[in-house]
Amino acid sequence: MLQKFDERNKNIKVWVKDGLYSRDKAKVSVFDSVVQGGDAVWEGLRVYPAGIFLLDRHLNRLFESAKALAFTDIPDIAFIKNALKETLDANNMQKDTHIRLTLTRGEKITSGMDPRLNQAGSCLIILPEWKPPVYDNDHGITVFTSTIRRNNPSFLDSKIHHNNLLNNIQAKIQSNVAGKDAALMLDYFGFAAELNGTNIFMVKGDKVYTPFASACLHGITRGLILELCQKNNIHIEERNISLTELYNADEVFCTGTMGELTPIVEIDGRNTKNSTGYQMLNKLITLFEATKQNHCIPLN
Ligand code: PMP
Repeated sequence: MLQKFDERNKNIKVWVKDGLYSRDKAKVSVFDSVVQGGDAVWEGLRVYPAGIFLLDRHLNRLFESAKALAFTDIPDIAFIKNALKETLDANNMQKDTHIRLTLTRGEKITSGMDPRLNQAGSCLIILPEWKPPVYDNDHGITVFTSTIRRNNPSFLDSKIHHNNLLNNIQAKIQSNVAGKDAALMLDYFGFAAELNGTNIFMVKGDKVYTPFASACLHGITRGLILELCQKNNIHIEERNISLTELYNADEVFCTGTMGELTPIVEIDGRNTKNSTGYQMLNKLITLFEATKQNHCIPLN
């Protein structure tokens, strides 16, 4: 297991709906929509001394997800930013912190799917934890291709960052059984979509490729890597990528708030070729680190 309990998180304070509660008292109702149907949207945020990384883009994705799900009570940016500030201040957290920010459709008057049963307003949850990047970026991770396909927009649009995570959790269970760090999920047609919690990239020669964002989450880190490539004249292309191409790529890596940029060293028992000594990945990590400060948004 990649993550362990961190003693520093024993007494954290968590924002639930309208105020801060200690970890043991931070709870939602059994009538809350997230309990009833995974009916919530969320963002993972990372805190640096200069602020929250790409907060504007994360909040934009949260608002777009909530709109797509027809949430009627969406708190405004000022409310969320103020709640984030109060939460981080109360925990004295300015770095090495990951925030799980969730917006549920709120409490229902009785159990059921119908959003008209939601008459108490939405519920914002800000869960901050001491959590350095989860993956070991020096040694990389191993992955196993799951038989569970990533949703495409015909079923549940991956452009909605929702809490109905069973699609990815089933894939993660398969990778656990296989003894690997993460699951590689294919799209409906059998092309690579993403890992169960991060986006995937491959390098062939001097070119970088990543799957279309039709079945994968349109990751914020993924988006920044696309931009960094474009700005620095690195050939980047979104396209269908088959497993055979991944097995024979020069470099394969994944991106996400959870682990930043992480080499993938093995796919389905094949060592990834890495004929370049991760030259491209290291170049992208350098560009990413150089731009990090500029993309941190302070909360004042
Ligand atoms: N894919 C999935 C399925 C995810 O849950 C996440 C993180 N929430 C990502 C990719 C990475 O996205 P981001 O770069 O926005 O953290």
